[in-house]
Amino acid sequence: MEVTDEASKLEAIHNESALAAHLAQRETLTGPSAEFCQMADCEMPIPEGRRLAQVGVRFCTECQTRRDRARGRK
Ligand SMILES: [Zn+2]
Repeated sequence: MEVTDEASKLEAIHNESALAAHLAQRETLTGPSAEFCQMADCEMPIPEGRRLAQVGVRFCTECQTRRDRARGRK
């Protein structure tokens, strides 16, 4: 059963690093949310619901989506 133990140990380590990465990502989204989109050429008011739903929101939905897409591209 040692193999199983090793496997679950590796899985635990993997889960831990995934959690750490997740937390590190969250850490960039702290502090009060911006009332207006921080994108220089946008500056649209960010809906209150969106600001309350996520901490540290800095962009409107449109700009956030665009940024997420740009980041995912290689
Ligand atoms: Zn925007």
